[in-house]
Amino acid sequence: MARELYTARLESKVCISKVAQCYHFAFVIDELESFPYAPGQFVSAVAEDAKGKMQTRAYSIASAPNKNIFELCVNRVEEGFFSNHLADLPDLPIGSKIQIHGPHGHFVLHEPVTDSILVCTGTGIAPMRGFTQWLFPEDGPDRSDGKEIWLVYGTRHETDIYYKEEFEALEKRKPNFHYLPTLSRAADSWGGLRGHVQAHVTRIVEERAAQFGLTLPQPAIDPATPAAELNFDIYTYICGLNFMVSGVRELLAEFGWHKKQVVFERYD
Ligand SMILES: Cc1cc2nc3c(=O)[nH]c(=O)nc-3n(C[C@H](O)[C@H](O)[C@H](O)COP(=O)(O)OP(=O)(O)OC[C@H]3O[C@@H](n4cnc5c(N)ncnc54)[C@H](O)[C@@H]3O)c2cc1C
Repeated sequence: MARELYTARLESKVCISKVAQCYHFAFVIDELESFPYAPGQFVSAVAEDAKGKMQTRAYSIASAPNKNIFELCVNRVEEGFFSNHLADLPDLPIGSKIQIHGPHGHFVLHEPVTDSILVCTGTGIAPMRGFTQWLFPEDGPDRSDGKEIWLVYGTRHETDIYYKEEFEALEKRKPNFHYLPTLSRAADSWGGLRGHVQAHVTRIVEERAAQFGLTLPQPAIDPATPAAELNFDIYTYICGLNFMVSGVRELLAEFGWHKKQVVFERYD
């Protein structure tokens, strides 16, 4: 079945890291009154390359549902077709249009909301921004239900911590939101967390287990338990490149976490 293609008009484009060549985009689908999706889902963007071949790439939606608007966070990949198509201002001035289909994907929050560890690197922050905007809307009731939400964001340098001010402001506004940006190649002047995301996920899991008197690794669940009967009070959501996603999944498996407790999206 042919997928319905929508035309999305570029409404705004902001370079959020010159060094990492990362851009935040807002698009409007004029033909729709609303574009419904679950936070964390992605759109497939379609465009013709220089040889006339149609190219399709997935981009996570970096916002919570809002009328007929969706936002993206895309960084330029060297030699890459689509990321450069989007990032090149002369090719895509304000008012330009792209074709998309979607929403797609299963990288969505479990409901009812539980304590959640959000782990990402680079533009893997995009769906996490969708999650946090939905959980903690500025202009509506809080959907987090008081659950603890940790956002562990890993990158190399301070210049590529995307949306830092936004998440810092959210942390000030919401005591149950914990923002943990960590740098693997921090300058001496950096006063924040250092190292890879795994170290900080370990600390969160261990401290929470100690707080609730739980043993680690947690006791295994009978593999015969039907999926519908599985009930967890914490999930981890991971998004980014495969080597990081695999690393965090392995770490959680060592803590005895059930594989259904770990939801992930890989960009490569
Ligand atoms: C579900 C999903 C959601 C995604 N969401 C986002 C998003 O929100 N923001 C975003 O920027 N990207 C996202 N991506 C990645 C995106 O789909 C493209 O792969 C990326 O923009 C590169 O496409 P390109 O056409 O520029 O490069 P291509 O022409 O496809 O590739 C050029 C070269 O870059 C390498 N490459 C491909 N992808 C990457 C990558 N992600 N990082 C580093 N090297 C790469 C290739 O191996 C190749 O050598 C997502 C991918 C998936 C599967």
